[in-house]
Amino acid sequence: MPEKLVLRVAVPAPLHQTFDYLPPRGVEAGRLLPGVRLRVPFGRGERCGLLLEVRVWQEQGERTLKRALALLDGTPLFTAEDLALLKWASRYYQYPLGEVIANALPVRLRKGLSALPVHTPVWRLTGQGSMQAESDLKRAPKQAALLRLLREQEGGMTREQVYQQFGACGPTLKALQQKGWLQMREELPPMVRGDAVRAPTLNRDQKVAVEAVKQDRFAAYLLDGITGSGKTEVYLALVRQVLEAGRQALVLVPEIGLTPQLIERFERRLGMRLAVLHSGLGEGEREHAWQLARTGHAPVVLGTRSALLTPMPRLGLIVVDEEHDLSFKQQEGFRYSARDLAVIRAQRNDCPVMLGSATPSLESLQNALAGRYRHLTLRQRAGGASTAKMDLLDIRSLRMDAGLSPVLLRNLEETLAAGNQALIFLNRRGYAPILTCHDCGWVAQCRRCDARMTLHAASGLLWCHHCGSQRRRDPACPECQSEDLRSLGQGTERVEEVLATRFPGVGIARIDRDTTRRKGSLDLLLEGIRKGKYSLLLGTQMLAKGHHFPDVTLVGILDVDQGLFGADYRAAERMAQQIVQVSGRAGRAEKPGRVLIQTRHPDHPMMQLLVREGYAAFAREALAEREAAMLPPFGYQALLRAEAPGEAAPGAFLEAAREQALALEGGSVQLWGPVPAPMERRAGRYRAHLLLQSESRAELQRLLADWIPRISRLKSARRVRWSIDVDPQEMY
Ligand code: ADP
Ligand code: ZN
Ligand code: ZN
Repeated sequence: MPEKLVLRVAVPAPLHQTFDYLPPRGVEAGRLLPGVRLRVPFGRGERCGLLLEVRVWQEQGERTLKRALALLDGTPLFTAEDLALLKWASRYYQYPLGEVIANALPVRLRKGLSALPVHTPVWRLTGQGSMQAESDLKRAPKQAALLRLLREQEGGMTREQVYQQFGACGPTLKALQQKGWLQMREELPPMVRGDAVRAPTLNRDQKVAVEAVKQDRFAAYLLDGITGSGKTEVYLALVRQVLEAGRQALVLVPEIGLTPQLIERFERRLGMRLAVLHSGLGEGEREHAWQLARTGHAPVVLGTRSALLTPMPRLGLIVVDEEHDLSFKQQEGFRYSARDLAVIRAQRNDCPVMLGSATPSLESLQNALAGRYRHLTLRQRAGGASTAKMDLLDIRSLRMDAGLSPVLLRNLEETLAAGNQALIFLNRRGYAPILTCHDCGWVAQCRRCDARMTLHAASGLLWCHHCGSQRRRDPACPECQSEDLRSLGQGTERVEEVLATRFPGVGIARIDRDTTRRKGSLDLLLEGIRKGKYSLLLGTQMLAKGHHFPDVTLVGILDVDQGLFGADYRAAERMAQQIVQVSGRAGRAEKPGRVLIQTRHPDHPMMQLLVREGYAAFAREALAEREAAMLPPFGYQALLRAEAPGEAAPGAFLEAAREQALALEGGSVQLWGPVPAPMERRAGRYRAHLLLQSESRAELQRLLADWIPRISRLKSARRVRWSIDVDPQEMY
């Protein structure tokens, strides 16, 4: 009997297995390479799967294989290394391989459509257009402006690039084309835009860091340097080296760090266009950047979490900036950590990976202490800035004005009088977190969550920040009809109100999700801050990341205490990171910053340590606490979550799953629970979880591999929505 070749295919489906197919009619299986897409019959429909391997069919017997319907790609979309990474991630995070692959593909490609060509329409001036006098266009100012813009861009511009600077202007482009002043050609998007701007001379610490990194071989580096110490310059120097060697570099930044300023800084310094990937892009732009990376046309990819999965054939360096940031962990579906996967990817590609932060995660610090990562430190602010001095403000028994203590208010006054800017940080948006009846004690609750509604005064709405539901503010108490409803506590909206009455005539920039909802509004506020239009900056964690405000000399942190006693064991780490990150936004050489932290627990030892000795000392102590309790990074965790509309179903399912795990397990993995989630009801569903913990990552992984595929066979699994989260970052 002749050997029969069959195709092993990963199909996007919530099943922990792959599937075998006969090759499509007319396609010779032996010539197919892994990494091409196939349309295959699946259940009663069709799916777009990815070829994993071509293998010899050995099984005897009656079972007949279905035939794949069509081959969708001529060449593989993923290299062998990239496919190996996706397989690794599927196993490690216990998420079906077909779905992991879908996460790594642009939407159109997931659906089986053919990949867009890497060529794109590029607009540039014709000879006539470049000679044309603008005075001929007096009555068409838009056309004149566009002409001016393109005159500066010899390489031409893609439609997206034009729109970015100019807003949608299709008709204007057309009009100029019809006059014969503009032409459009399909080509690779212009990469080079002028010469690279010269880098500053690196200081000693920076040089040591750059020289420590060995190209062409795997090693992980932790770049530990305060805000403004010149980490980005180190990344840029490394990226340049990699480009000179003809390889590609991948730079990951947190969601909020990917600002137009950062993109521009990289492009100016490298003298080229980057392939930029983030969730705010349209599907077309996203796919285009993905294609440029995959085909090797884009030497540098800059992006947020999901950019980590972009195929790159000549990958030579990965950088993860602000590696402690939570946005690197996907919190739904395929719950991967882009930071952790970056290290695995670098290992498989045998290239260096650099994790940078002013406040490294305890995981990365421990890896550095244990010698797995090389620890590089930048000790000083580059460009001569000094670091801010921190002080705790004891606010027990003080009369507060919307969360602002008299001491802080006095300091604000002095700062403004001296002509400087001040920044106030409060990680709570809205007007007040509680609306209550003064007569009977009723509190406005969300009907779908175990949570209070936040009052938003400007819109007159009560808003649940957990499920997003809204309703009009009650005019009277629904329990006792009293009209004496009062708001307690404060959010940024209320603090803004108080500041406006206290400091009339002073420009206040409030930056939170409510004030930055509209596209471009954040940039407008930031520009106003740079230009000195605002003297008071007020905001949530959106203010704490990515930006630098050199004229800010005072930072006030209104409420840190929740971090000290949070239900989550990571609360203290997050609080410390937040304080240090906010503080790092302020000050420069001639204007050193001061940080005032309001607290009701001024004697708390961890807080004292942070303020007196800094983040490194705090982190050492926090690591010692984790080690004593065998918590991550000294123990390894996975969280099985379940939710359902009925109260009993999650617990029943988790109990059955627990029995299953116990039967499989020798005892080295501890099972905690099931217990209700900290917020048991959310968006109308009851939630519970079961925590798994082990001192051995390998043993935890072994149990998960045996157990997770069986869970879906439990009868009680059909009555809940469940998910497994490996290395969970949040416990809710
Ligand atoms: P980080 O990424 O650590 O916050 P940056 O790389 O953004 O720090 O550097 C902060 C500022 O200092 C930037 O304006 C940068 O241009 C400048 N800078 C960095 N390194 C040097 C250097 N070696 N000499 C002069 N200026 C520098
Ligand atoms: Zn009442
Ligand atoms: Zn809610």
